[in-house]
Amino acid sequence: MTKIIFKETSMINPATFGYGMRAETVTALSNEHTEPFFVYDEQYIRDRCKLFMTMPNAYGIQPRFAMKANSLKAILQIIASEGMGIDASSLNEAKRAVMAGIEPSRIMLTTQEVPEGKARKELEHLLQRGMKYNVCSLTQLNKIAPLAAGKNLTLAMRVHPGVGSGESVTRNTGDKYSCFGVHLSDVPEAVSSAREQGIIIDTVHVHIGSGGDPAQWKENIYRELSFIEAWFPDAKTVNFGGGFRVARMGDETSADIQDLGMTAKEAVEEFYQRTGRKLRMEVEPGNAIMANAGYLVARVIDLKQTGPDGFRFVVLNGGMEVITRPLLYGARHPFTVINQSGQILFDDLKKNKAQDLEELIVVGRCCESGDSLTLDADHHIIPRLMTRPAVGDLFVVGGAGAYCSSMSLGNYNSHCLCAEYLVRPDGKPVCIRQEQNLEQLIQNELPVSGL
Ligand SMILES: *Cc1c(COP(=O)(O)O)cnc(C)c1O
Repeated sequence: MTKIIFKETSMINPATFGYGMRAETVTALSNEHTEPFFVYDEQYIRDRCKLFMTMPNAYGIQPRFAMKANSLKAILQIIASEGMGIDASSLNEAKRAVMAGIEPSRIMLTTQEVPEGKARKELEHLLQRGMKYNVCSLTQLNKIAPLAAGKNLTLAMRVHPGVGSGESVTRNTGDKYSCFGVHLSDVPEAVSSAREQGIIIDTVHVHIGSGGDPAQWKENIYRELSFIEAWFPDAKTVNFGGGFRVARMGDETSADIQDLGMTAKEAVEEFYQRTGRKLRMEVEPGNAIMANAGYLVARVIDLKQTGPDGFRFVVLNGGMEVITRPLLYGARHPFTVINQSGQILFDDLKKNKAQDLEELIVVGRCCESGDSLTLDADHHIIPRLMTRPAVGDLFVVGGAGAYCSSMSLGNYNSHCLCAEYLVRPDGKPVCIRQEQNLEQLIQNELPVSGL
């Protein structure tokens, strides 16, 4: 396939798929670069940030991007330029945000691990520069208190509400099977211990899970405000966490951000009427900003079948090592097939029943039978109804902007981390991360004498 052919087809086929990605952009990139690679849509990311920056609220809102969803510098810079803050899940994430030019005062660190040793100095430095620490356990409180007490630093506290909701059991962060935050039965002790150590808790945080039921997200608003009323007299900010459900597939439904915001606004106003306290609000979307902003582009490298009682398989040159969510969660992602003349042969989100559809299993290139993009939550292969592609066609996996690149299995089968591109608002793609090479993959290995 040459660039000339692409130019011809681009004139007759300016088609888009997913959330406005142009087939010709993807085809042009794949003419010059080997797959797999990720492509992100800058305008879409900006639009999603605006949705949260203008989410209904009573006395001010600060959305924080949960950067574990996607931690690339260019992505962080786009999101920060829209006014979003950062929710960091590790000290390294916080440092990465600072390296991307984001002020520590715009970052809150919510982590299971209080940095020790040399990293404790780095933490102290970031706290002095205004980063907020979100205390997640009694142990953490005692380790962090000396860094905050008498230094005019206030802390946040993550409360474990005892009730949560996630898109799968492993993404529920609020029930008794998950240990994030200070359990509400420990909160009175934590609060009095903080007070004794001269610590002011001015932010209360709850994050009930990822992609859970929006009705549960609403219920948490009332629950969290009741914790604040009962135990946190100094709280000025209520952080309701993230977890806004995002539809990747056509039969899924996204959480209604306006509706959730209206419920929060009314509840926070009502809290003011009851207590005389005006709370600022924070939310922490990750998926809801990035999920549908990104696409994984792979190529069909083989078509196989497993006999008369078996299945037909589409083999791609990228699977679990670049997109782990299907294997990890049974997550479904929409597929688009672009043929070698640049035409969209199949688009999951615009399923045309007139096409020849058949049940196909989509797999990656790793030597692992679980390396499939069509699995259910019990790790069973479930074929997907789609148009059969040809070897050499491009295979685009949508909904791949969050928890794909950042959560990839990296170097399994010694594959190198793939390149990532950003389509600018003018439609032009730029590389935001180069492909890793084999030398980089092995660079930290050391020789052992006598082998
Ligand atoms: C992961 C996480 C989020 C974001 O969850 P999404 O489902 O991506 O919105 C928000 N807050 C905290 C504390 C998290 O750990």
